Amino acid sequence: MGVVIVGAGQAGLAVSHELTALGVEHTVLERGRVASTWRGRWDSFCLVTPNWTVQLPGGRYDGADPHGYMPRDDIVAHLERYARSFSAPVREGVEVRSIKRGPEPASDGFILGTSEGEIRTRTVVLTTGAYQKPHRPRGADDFPGRVQVIDAEHYRNAEALAQGAVLIVGSGQTGCQLAEELHEAGRDVYLACGRAPWVPRRLGDHDITHWIEATGFFDQPRAALPSPQARLVANQQVTGHGGGHDLNYRVLRAMGVTLLGRFQGVSGGRVMFADDLAQSVAFGDARYTAFRKLVMDTCATTGITPPDMPDPAPFDASAPDSLPIDRLGAVIFTSGFRPDFASWVHIPGAFDELGFPIERDGASTVAPGLFFCGVHYMRKRKSSLLIGVGEDAAIVARAVAASREAATGRNSYLKK
Ligand SMILES: Cc1cc2nc3c(=O)[nH]c(=O)nc-3n(C[C@H](O)[C@H](O)[C@H](O)COP(=O)(O)OP(=O)(O)OC[C@H]3O[C@@H](n4cnc5c(N)ncnc54)[C@H](O)[C@@H]3O)c2cc1C
Repeated sequence: MGVVIVGAGQAGLAVSHELTALGVEHTVLERGRVASTWRGRWDSFCLVTPNWTVQLPGGRYDGADPHGYMPRDDIVAHLERYARSFSAPVREGVEVRSIKRGPEPASDGFILGTSEGEIRTRTVVLTTGAYQKPHRPRGADDFPGRVQVIDAEHYRNAEALAQGAVLIVGSGQTGCQLAEELHEAGRDVYLACGRAPWVPRRLGDHDITHWIEATGFFDQPRAALPSPQARLVANQQVTGHGGGHDLNYRVLRAMGVTLLGRFQGVSGGRVMFADDLAQSVAFGDARYTAFRKLVMDTCATTGITPPDMPDPAPFDASAPDSLPIDRLGAVIFTSGFRPDFASWVHIPGAFDELGFPIERDGASTVAPGLFFCGVHYMRKRKSSLLIGVGEDAAIVARAVAASREAATGRNSYLKK
């Protein structure tokens, strides 16, 4: 078989678009339907980045509201149109359950165990998602059965959640958005907070995303991160809901959400929290201050009038250290994601200790012929985002084409 792309989200479709442009024969295997992950997000979900950031190759946003934040179903419709626009060779409903190398890796390539039988190919591109396996902290499974416990990906809306107060564990973008939604639905909401950056929705006349792009923040390479673990830090707290607004610890507390320290587990009929809310708030404030410097430096070098970016307001970080479980109807874990390649891609040494592929520009440095795209922070901060995945897809597609030329002796792809 020609090249196999696994996953028909934005990353898989973008690579498919670029391979189509190069004339490289390929198939996209998708276990669900095109844009399955977006389809699975909660009912009121909308983009956090404005519509103009949808910059897929051959599939840029061209609607009437570039500064709006598309709701879930419009994102799905956009990706469906994108797939149709170049007749992406997607086979929906085919799950790849395992990948291993053939007996003679150099000549046999890879063997894919799929829901429709075995497939052999010398070139595989894994585009199975930036956010693969929900991560739950220790103690998450100790709640009594009468409390509904779910991961954020299973949250649909307030009505579908068990009655009563809600504890949300994890305070990245998703945790903050669900806290706001449930509070507005009349629930008592408790938010166990961790370390997450925050940004104001708007700075001066622009959405924050304009500044993230203008400062070069989106283009920061992975090497600029302080540690490999920094890849797992939450995305910035902010929302596109209701036209977009600030949504951080100060906003949530002002609206009536109870902020708590990190979730520590369940003990003696109570849920326990660390005494660390002050540190979590300080972490977010430090990220804001660092970003402010980037904005000010950019304004100084470009001659742009700097926007107003005041110091964060003082914050009283006192918080309860525990809650009676009896008070809760539901717990939602929104405590991040981990890569999940290693559980089904049986190629020794291909993934690091956090589970990220060991690659350069998307090409595995361990298994020639194995490629990735859409991985969080693969090349740059924007690698897994709608604004950045297209740049990576073009690079990966050219590397795939080069490897096909080497494998088949054909040398016409890269002349295009
Ligand atoms: C809550 C949330 C909000 C986000 N908001 C934004 C935003 O506002 N702006 C932005 O730019 N980015 C946003 N992102 C980040 C990113 O754009 C999305 O995560 C996006 O879905 C990533 O696209 P992808 O194609 O890499 O992965 P996915 O969309 O996850 O697509 C992967 C596909 O692979 C399929 N698949 C997986 N495993 C297999 C297998 N073994 N066999 C066959 N098929 C398989 C899945 O069914 C899925 O269709 C958000 C992420 C999250 C979690």
